[in-house]
Amino acid sequence: MATHDFDLFVIGAGSGGVRASRIAASLGARVAVAEERYLGGTCVNVGCIPKKLFYYASDFGEGFDDAAGFGWTSEPRSHNWKKLIENKDREIARLNGVYERLLKDSGVTILDGRAQLLDAHTVAINGMRYRARYILVATGSWPVMPATPGIEHAISSNEAFHLDAMPQRAVLVGGGYIAVEFAGIFHGLGAHVTLVHRGPLPLTGFDYDLRAVLADEMRKRGVNLRLNRTVERIEKTAMGIRATLMNGDTLDADLIMYATGRRPNTRGFGLENAGVEVNSTGAVAVDEYSRTSVENIYAIGDCTDRIMLTPVAIAEGNAVAQTLFGPRPMKIDYQNVPSTVFSHPNVSTVGLTEEAARKRFAKIDVYKSSFRPLKHTLSGRDEKTFMKMVVDAATERVAGCHMVGPDAGEIMQGLALALRLGAKKSDFDATIGIHPTAAEEFMTMRQKSPEPASA
Ligand code: NDP
Repeated sequence: MATHDFDLFVIGAGSGGVRASRIAASLGARVAVAEERYLGGTCVNVGCIPKKLFYYASDFGEGFDDAAGFGWTSEPRSHNWKKLIENKDREIARLNGVYERLLKDSGVTILDGRAQLLDAHTVAINGMRYRARYILVATGSWPVMPATPGIEHAISSNEAFHLDAMPQRAVLVGGGYIAVEFAGIFHGLGAHVTLVHRGPLPLTGFDYDLRAVLADEMRKRGVNLRLNRTVERIEKTAMGIRATLMNGDTLDADLIMYATGRRPNTRGFGLENAGVEVNSTGAVAVDEYSRTSVENIYAIGDCTDRIMLTPVAIAEGNAVAQTLFGPRPMKIDYQNVPSTVFSHPNVSTVGLTEEAARKRFAKIDVYKSSFRPLKHTLSGRDEKTFMKMVVDAATERVAGCHMVGPDAGEIMQGLALALRLGAKKSDFDATIGIHPTAAEEFMTMRQKSPEPASA
């Protein structure tokens, strides 16, 4: 007789939780997944997917401008925000349905509500108790809003997807993925955008050159960058909202959006009842198999302290399902995880930055290329594409590839595979390019950058 209602009880039906549920069910496990908000989690509802749809919407603005040099006339031009939101909402509702069907077709039981751990094997939800052999915590993350006076007048990315109207003047606070992506989105849709970042350049942790090139390109487009600045307070005014910076400058806006990081969503799920340890950042502490301090409880995705990216959560979800119900334990390789910032222009990266490679290797070779994309010879747009390759001189293996420019993410995905396979610079050199593309430039980089000391 079964002593448990389920073999696996998953808390959170975001990208990672759904993948773990489906794979576990396909491996014969009896699986339940609890979700209190929306199927598909942040990525589907208030993250990657609607953000990319907004990105496309904003990109048309530049497309219209660029088309003139190719003979097109596209005036008068206007944008209907309500239509964008309606169409986006319809697509998200469709995806919610797809997720529901995928789970049900896999035999997974979906429980709507907030699950609470009562002990290491018991979960309570909607007045019911379920016993589970294994539990997977996949509760994601939530935007952090600092305790700035007047912060209640600001929004986070959660609300940005449901605005009644497009702001004419937007202030973005933060210099990470979300701030630069939304700076590009609002600017592309016609807003006057100011980005306030406490650091000297956006995208801390990315290769320095990428950060500098992105800042230049954002400025060229007309985004007002207020770097090395923080917001002291926010007030409502007769004309909108006002942010006062530490140096006394004021910024008047219709919308102030904070994108100052996301915090693991680990409170209020009864983790302490089961003895699950949470580290100093509030994230669930896990080992390389995503196992928590409790033997039968696992955690994946943003609620752990690893890489906050959807494909990483999906890979972790799959690995946990394979470990528990598959033929052998599986762990994730966190090296060379590629990522793309959907800023205008895109920033994409895989592997080590130049700064990290200098620390890791005795000697590195750096190749850089900056050029005007063919399209802009006729569009007239003053935009440069930038590419960079970092090579470990001793082994000649490519340690990092970085790019700012259109479709950078589409290009970087293939390069991530090359790096995973240990490609050397000579392999890139021997690969025939596709002409005329931007990507071919990664195959034809010949000139080493001078060493910093001699530069
Ligand atoms: P990030 O961690 O990327 O950036 C946070 C930014 O906020 C940093 O610039 C940071 O400054 C700044 N910051 C933090 N605290 C404060 C504060 N108190 N006052 C002022 N500035 C502050 O977070 P995001 O919110 O942009 O995104 C969260 C995560 O979601 C990302 O890290 C990423 O993993 C994921 N994501 C991925 C996307 C993609 O793959 N395209 C898109 C969107 C999100 P500093 O740099 O000085 O620390």
